[in-house]
Order: sequence, then C-alpha cells, then structure tokens
Amino acid sequence: MSEHTKTICPYCGVGCGIAVTEDRRFAPWGDAPVNEGRICIKGGAAMEVVEHEDRLTEPQIRGDDGDLHAATWDEAYGRVVSEMERIRAEHGPDAMGFFGCSKATNEENYLLQKLARRYGTNNVDNCTRMCHASTVYALRRSLGAGAMTNSMQDLMESADVLWIQGANPAEQHPIANSVYFRQAVLDGATVIQIDPHANKTTRSFDIEGTDRHLHLQSNPGSDIPLLNVVLKTVLENGWVDEEFVAERTEGVDHLVETLADFDTEEAARVCGVRLEDIERAAEVYATAENATIFTGMGMSQHTCGVDNVQNEINLALVTGNVGRPGTGVNPLRGQNNVQGTCDVGAMPNTLPGYQNVEDDDLRAAVEAVWGFEVPPKAGLTNVEISHEAGASIKGLYVMGENPVMSEPDANRVAERLADLEFLVVQDVFPTDTVGYADVVLPATSWAERGGTVVNTDRRVQRMRGIGRVYPGTNHDFDILQAVGTRLFGPDGGFDFDDPEAVFEELRQVCPIFGGITYDRLGEEGIHWPCLEPGDEGDPYLYEDAFTTPNGMGYIEGVRHQPPKEVPDDEYPLILTTARLIEHYNTGTMSRRSPTLNRQHPENFVDVHPADAERYGVADGDTVTLRSRRGEIEVRAQVTEDIKQGTVWTTPHFAASSANRLTNDALDERAKIPEYKAAAVAIEAGGGESGTAADD
Ligand code: SF4
Repeated sequence: MSEHTKTICPYCGVGCGIAVTEDRRFAPWGDAPVNEGRICIKGGAAMEVVEHEDRLTEPQIRGDDGDLHAATWDEAYGRVVSEMERIRAEHGPDAMGFFGCSKATNEENYLLQKLARRYGTNNVDNCTRMCHASTVYALRRSLGAGAMTNSMQDLMESADVLWIQGANPAEQHPIANSVYFRQAVLDGATVIQIDPHANKTTRSFDIEGTDRHLHLQSNPGSDIPLLNVVLKTVLENGWVDEEFVAERTEGVDHLVETLADFDTEEAARVCGVRLEDIERAAEVYATAENATIFTGMGMSQHTCGVDNVQNEINLALVTGNVGRPGTGVNPLRGQNNVQGTCDVGAMPNTLPGYQNVEDDDLRAAVEAVWGFEVPPKAGLTNVEISHEAGASIKGLYVMGENPVMSEPDANRVAERLADLEFLVVQDVFPTDTVGYADVVLPATSWAERGGTVVNTDRRVQRMRGIGRVYPGTNHDFDILQAVGTRLFGPDGGFDFDDPEAVFEELRQVCPIFGGITYDRLGEEGIHWPCLEPGDEGDPYLYEDAFTTPNGMGYIEGVRHQPPKEVPDDEYPLILTTARLIEHYNTGTMSRRSPTLNRQHPENFVDVHPADAERYGVADGDTVTLRSRRGEIEVRAQVTEDIKQGTVWTTPHFAASSANRLTNDALDERAKIPEYKAAAVAIEAGGGESGTAADD
C-alpha cells in the first residue's frame, strides 16, 4: 500500500477512506477507519472525473462581446480584485456575497470565510443552508452542537431501535446503511422508517429471518403530527424518563400543554398512516433500552424544518435517549465536507466552531488572532443572497457551488445571477453557473488537493493529494491566498505555506478543533470536540450535560404547519425530491462519470398507479410536470412505491431538474427552502425526457 495515496471519498458525508494508485486509479484502502475497504459505486468511480476532458484548464474573463475568453492568472486575479474593490467602494462590503464549497477542505473554506470577513461582510454561507440548516439550528439551540450526537460505530454496537425519518441512507449514505445499520438489525435492532416513499432503504431491511422493520408511509409534510402522536402516546403510557427529564431538561410543561387537546385520530388522517401503526412505533422506540434517531432532508427541507427536528429532539429527550452510546439525534450529512464547512465558520451567523458572530467577547477573541475587525451583525444566507442578487447584492464569489441548479425555483436564480454586476466562479468543471460568470478560475479536483474534512459523525480526517495538479489549474487554497494577498497586502493574513499551516491557525480560533493536529489525525482521524492536546475526542456527546448555555436540553411543543403550497385544482399533486445512489447534487461530477451515468441516464418521476390512471399516464410515457415556477419533461415510472397524491423526482439532470419546480419559501429561522413539498400538475405527453447528454 505504500505507493498508494490514502484519502477520503469526495462524495457523501459517510467519509469512506479510499486509495489512489500511482497511475491514478482507484484502489481499496483495506483498513480505512470508517469503511474498512468497503465502498459504494460512487466511491469506486470517483477517479473517473479527475482527468475528465471537460476540466476547466485556463482562467477566463468575459469580454465586451459577452463571451468568456482565456486569460492569464494575473489578468483574472486583477479583474477579481478590481471588481471587488469597486463594489466595496460604490456599494459597501455587504454588496458582496460568498458561497463556500462543501466538497472543498476545511482549510479552503476557512480561508474563504476569512476572506469575506476581512472584506467586511458576514455574507458567507454554504450548501448546508439547502440541506440541514434547520437541523443545525434545532440541535444547537436544544442540545448545544449542530451535529450528530453519536458515532456510526457506537450506534451499530449499542442501538436497539433505529428511527429513520425523512432519510434514504441506502441511496444517499450507502456504506452507513449497508455496513452499520444493517449490521445493527442483524444483531437484533428494530428499524422504524418514516418516509412517503418505499425505497431502497425499505427493501434493505427486508432481511430474511428478521421481522424488525416498520415502514410508516406518511404524507409529505406530516412529520409534526406524526411525531405528536408518538409523543402523546409516550406521555399517556408513562414511557417518559422522569428522572432524565427532571434533571437534564427544561420545557416539558410546554410540550404537555401543546399536546393536551391534540387529536391523534385527526393527526393520523393528516399523516395518511393508521393510528395503531404510529402508536406501535411509539411503543417500540420508547420501551427500547437504547433508541436512536436518524434524520434526513425529508425532515429539514421544509418551511417548518426547525420544528420538525425539534420534535425529534423532544422525543429523544422525554425518553432519555441522549448522552449514551446507541442513542441521540443524528443528521445524515450529504456532502463529504458539509459538516466541516459549517464547523470552520463558512456561515453568516457563526465564526469557526459555531461561535455566535454577534457575541462581542467571542468575536473579540477571534479578531485577536486574525488582526482585523469582524462585522458585528450576522450576514445573509445563500438563498437570501440569491434573492438579493442584482438588487442589494452586486457581486458574488462562488467557490465550487452551482446555484443555478442547486437552489429552488432555479429559473429565477438564473435570471437574478444574470443581473449581478460581477460574478466570479471558481470550479473544476464548466457548471451551469459558469455560464453567468464574469471571471472563471479553474480549480484542482478532490484527488489533487490536501487538507482535512469532517464526516457526518464529526470525524476529522485528512485528505491527501496525489501530488500532481491537472495542467492549467490551481488549488482553491492557492487561489484564495492570491486573491486575499492582492486585496489586503502581504501581511493581510493570507500567506500560509501549506494547508497544515492554515489548520494551525484554525485550531486557535475554533475551540472544538483545539486539540487536533495533523500528526494526531494520523489515519484514524478524531471526532470533535477535541478541546486540547491529549483530548481523545468524543464519539458521543452530552454524557453529563448539554452544551447549551445552561447545560439543559430544551424541549418545546410544536404544532402542525402544512407546506406553503398544498394541492389545489390546478396543481393537484405534491412533488417531493431526492437523489439516487449514482447521483450527487447537481451532477457536476457524477454526470461526468460513465459508470454512474450508465445506471440512470435520464430523469424519471414516480407516479402512483391511481394517479397515473386519473391523469392518463402510462408507465414509460414522457410527461410534463408543471409547478407555479416552471415545467420539466420526464419519463413516468408508475409504481406503488410512492404514496397516492405524491410524485417524486430528482434534481440531478439540468434539462429536467426538479429545482425548476421547487418552492423557495423559507423556514423563518433557519432560512432553508421547502424542497420537499411543491404543488404540481402532471400531463401526459411532452418533449424528450432530459438526459445527461442534454446537460
Ligand atoms: Fe463515498 Fe459515501 Fe459511497 Fe462511502 S458511502 S464510498 S463516502 S459515496
């Protein structure tokens, strides 16, 4: 193995270790800490994109003729810096926005947020806003840290019940599901799955010889009433852990009050699930010795996303299922470093380590290390930045994101980006967003860069570059330093020799990383929080106290809030969305991978047979799906896997992306859009279904 480079898979948040050979092919890393050599189709195909012919290989600047033209790095940096300086002089620093990249390293995202703050704005965010912002908000407020409470290893070994709500780990976190979760079931654990869709996860737990899987096929947007039935059942049956609630929590009276007049039969009707099935699930969870909750984007991507997750926290707290191995509330994170991108402060309201940017003392401590003042008010989130693009936002710096496809109501996003005075895009491939850029900076790919990333269970791990950089490209690390140095001078805080030097500064301002060094990470990594040298890190949190201001876990009753759009005569169906195992976000990498593309070369929509009959749709037809924001053509797949009244498709293909239809209504507190519920109509007939070739 010595000639192989050991690094981390660039796709999902499981954080599998993989190796790259000297001739740049994939190789297994047999004793990798998370996956011990096991790998899913994406990890195995990850090298296919590294030397892809579509790589961006030279900086480009948009000319007076409206086209992008090749430029030198010096010219491109010059344009970026002069435009950023002009915008600050004419409109102030809050007229710029910055998008971090959850596929880039901690060090790169740390530099990006530092660049934004040195420029004078907290308008910096990352794609967690689209996936788990509401989860992070609820977990931080009610438990203390915006991350998984437990590690996958301890959940596999100790959980008796896995409550999986709004997540499809068999598609989206395949190694977590096939290794950790299935093993827990083989060892005797029961799975309770709540999802409108019977999916690969559903089938993965139909294990011969076991009968420990309940699937509650609920309606989209009915998670609060479903959990309220569960909570009322727990309260009425005396399954509350009274000692835990009394000593370690506050707010239970509010929950009891909220549920006092709650009608469980009416709630079950709203959920579309039999009341006795929900009550059975409540009993299984509440009477287990150790029960854990996995929460996914089916929960978080709603206008009531914070309350959805709060109700899961309520359930864990009232039953005392937090603070031990095999328990907790555990968000499954989507991108390989979305956890780390948040950890290092690429968010508008928090400095590195989730320190509130509006707290004068916390801000002063960071300023003392950085040597410049940080704006004292939280900035705009990425959807707010997109909404303001062309209005109060005049310029945007995008590192490795593709908002034209990834954001909801994508047609409007494209129009607004076109209205910007200046857009710089730093990426590996010519994404749809590159089409709107004024300057394009070609970056290195995942395999070429070094640094650290944080997986879904808070394990900080090292990525190691293969020691070769694709011709014409630069590391994000070097690009950000070049821009920072040109903007702020040689002593401006952007003069690091290598990513390890950045990490050494990061750990000074990010207490949860305080005890981590590159040497200590070795090949195993360390679970944060690791506060000081010698600290081993914490595979599970809150053994003795929560990390909220008063150390208590926060319970709060919540009431049903329907999605912002509900079906009506014109748009009679609810659209919900997700990705498949071969998909990855907007497909910038995965659509360029022949192995992945072969699996599902075109988009499709799942339609229930009763809806198919009603709207005259046959299996295999190309249909038009239409919402108030746009329409797409996709192939119909008629299946009982989906709940009647609901249709399901993916955002993966540009020509037929679900995000041309999705609603950009936001959760008021977390500002996450409601991707998971939009009213749509379906019509038989249409053009060609969008394929990767169209994109
Ligand atoms: Fe990569 Fe996730 Fe697959 Fe592991 S499970 S190989 S991290 S995509």
